[in-house]
Amino acid sequence: MKMDPTLHREKKPDWIKVRLPNNPGFWSTKSLITDLKLVTVCEEAQCPNRWECWGQGTATFMIAGDKCTRACGFCAVKTAKPDALESDEPQRVAEATRRMNLRHVVITAVARDDLRDGGAEHFKLTIEAVRQANPEIIIEVLVPDFNDRDWALAMVMQARPHIFNHNLETVERLTPLVRSRAQYQRSLTVLKKAKEMVHGKIATKSGIMLGLGERHDEILRAMDDLLAHDVTVLTLGQYLRPTQKHLPVVEYITPQAFDEYKAIALAKGFRHVASGPLVRSSYHAADFRPELDVLESIEADVRAARGLEIGPEHLPLPSPKPALIQAIA
Ligand code: SF4
Repeated sequence: MKMDPTLHREKKPDWIKVRLPNNPGFWSTKSLITDLKLVTVCEEAQCPNRWECWGQGTATFMIAGDKCTRACGFCAVKTAKPDALESDEPQRVAEATRRMNLRHVVITAVARDDLRDGGAEHFKLTIEAVRQANPEIIIEVLVPDFNDRDWALAMVMQARPHIFNHNLETVERLTPLVRSRAQYQRSLTVLKKAKEMVHGKIATKSGIMLGLGERHDEILRAMDDLLAHDVTVLTLGQYLRPTQKHLPVVEYITPQAFDEYKAIALAKGFRHVASGPLVRSSYHAADFRPELDVLESIEADVRAARGLEIGPEHLPLPSPKPALIQAIA
């Protein structure tokens, strides 16, 4: 399946405006990230909001390196053989959240198909280090699909993030063109399984980029599919072409249309929807907080896992099946 490059709309409309840095906050975020030798998706994916987010002292950390094993047609992150994992990276991310005084952190990673666990343990260690350094923080993870290995997903869930985010990125028909190796149905089941593994005690979130040639009915269908898989938080943003080698922009969706999609999504049953031309998965992520009872039960599970309050109701995960134990071993 190929997209016709002549469909590309070269000229960006007026509503796609990137704000340049105008406050010292941007530079202090930049120097902190440089100082701790961290990688951010803000830079690697050429996010149009980085001037704004960094200026406000937030950023999205990208762990497990800056080289991805997949080559998605929309993504600016480079594809190459990744480097070895850095064992002190979880601590450096934790230190950044402490120094930045974050109340909400988004942690993502490149797809590490070269690793048997897809980088799941590295996610787990990072979540644990962040929680240790900053016990009050809301931890959101934006994860790859771990090649649908349940035992790898279970490792991440064992660390009990508060928000589990995995992007659908596009509608079903365009998935083979837009995403490398990922599958639409698999992404949906990853979202559902993640929630089931913690007995529903988590918020699940997903995002779709618009402007790649998807139809209105296909967007609504994707919303329905996400809801059918218990996803309650949705982000909708405009696809922007990072380089000439990436997929063309077929359409610039108007801000009014984004507002209409937001209204539709809320009416369908999503709990929180961020929708707009420059919305990205982590844009203003702190605007959404899971329900208090979800937060409390996650904290109870974390305490129980540390041995402070042992009780069967606090078991963080369903008992692993023998096959799963074997796989982990
Ligand atoms: S929207 Fe997310 S990726 Fe973009 S700059 Fe903000 S925090 Fe970084």
